[in-house]
Amino acid sequence: MTAAKPLPHYLVSRYQGWKATGYAENKSWYRRLASEGQHPRAMVISCCDSRVHVTSIFGADQGEFFIHRNIANLVPPYEPDGQKHGTSATIEYAVTALKVAHVIVMGHSSCGGVRGFYDMTMGHAPELREQSSFVGRWMDLLQPGYDRIKGETSGPECIDALEKEAVIVSLDNLMTFPFVRAAVEADELTLHGLWHDIGEGDLMWFDAEERGFKPV
Ligand SMILES: [Zn+2]
Repeated sequence: MTAAKPLPHYLVSRYQGWKATGYAENKSWYRRLASEGQHPRAMVISCCDSRVHVTSIFGADQGEFFIHRNIANLVPPYEPDGQKHGTSATIEYAVTALKVAHVIVMGHSSCGGVRGFYDMTMGHAPELREQSSFVGRWMDLLQPGYDRIKGETSGPECIDALEKEAVIVSLDNLMTFPFVRAAVEADELTLHGLWHDIGEGDLMWFDAEERGFKPV
């Protein structure tokens, strides 16, 4: 049985409003987008969190960003084992087919995935420890980041630091993909790490030389 129902009314009316205004007023631009294909200059890897709105904070239009979102903006290491790797597939397509010039990993404040990892590590979320927990096993990717900072902080400060470690883990894992490393070494691709404070609207960038986050 395929389970699918008609859209809820509020979404139907919102869509119809966009078709009559946003689309109708820019029809030729949309037609050109469709006929010319996509040529995004940047790939963004951000969290699924509904409050993270990367196109808004950069004022980006359709066609500008190739965006992949997952829990806690994590990139797994390169594992060519024949299994299904959704995040790795998007990175492969962005770098080898679209040939993006930038890959931007963006973490954020009050990240539920990172909070889950912290709770699991503190022994407060046994359900995430289960082998069957997709979230728990996905968040295991953050372990190397936790290993770097454990003992230095605890509680909310540790969660804040872990959100930034999630960005660093992803940047490190990106370089384990041979096609990413080759493009970076050929100066055809640059990697960037960001952390976004949702409440303050702030944006920090990761300075790899000083291993710290600085305001943009
Ligand atoms: Zn998040």
